[in-house]
Amino acid sequence: MYESEKKEMLKACMQMKEYQLISLTGGNISVKIDDDTFLVTPSGMLYEDMNIDDICVIDNKGNIKEGIRKPSSDYEALLYIFNNLKDVKAIIHTHQPYATAIGFNNDSLPACMVTLIDAAHARINVAPWARSQDVGMGKLVVEYAGDASAVILKHHGVVTFGKDLKEALYSAVYLEEAAKTYCMARIMGDVPELTQQQIDEEASGWNSYGQNN
Ligand SMILES: [Zn+2]
Repeated sequence: MYESEKKEMLKACMQMKEYQLISLTGGNISVKIDDDTFLVTPSGMLYEDMNIDDICVIDNKGNIKEGIRKPSSDYEALLYIFNNLKDVKAIIHTHQPYATAIGFNNDSLPACMVTLIDAAHARINVAPWARSQDVGMGKLVVEYAGDASAVILKHHGVVTFGKDLKEALYSAVYLEEAAKTYCMARIMGDVPELTQQQIDEEASGWNSYGQNN
């Protein structure tokens, strides 16, 4: 079941690799079908080796509904996010290096680029460290999300989310681009943040971008 959703997940997995957001078996992708059905990438498998039968179908308690693989060890955190962030239907977790680097010495990545605003909507907060593979990671994402569709996890990586997989992926990729640019700019000096008025103006134009299909 859910063949088209699983194919879309596999495509997004390869895009995570293409944009250098993950290495080897790191990170995961998950999609909400309904309140008791979730698709999650398997634990510890290379993305290039995965096929649609490797995607796990789990219920809201983490029980396997379909599939032979063990789901990502972050599944409890992922379920917590799905259950507590309204309208979230897809989550991407990565260890993308530039955004993660921001987390060591900053409380947030400022809203400094239009692409970051377009895709992730606001400045990206850094959540304090929490053990991986634990529901605590999910609780921090919910607590620190604010108006953004992403959170940087200190000493760990990034969680992005959206109403579909495309939104979650765009948030992750443009967050990494903004983080990389911010890191380079900081070498030369302070980086100004967009004003709230500029952010609002930018956000209003994003709705008409693209082909709307
Ligand atoms: Zn991780």
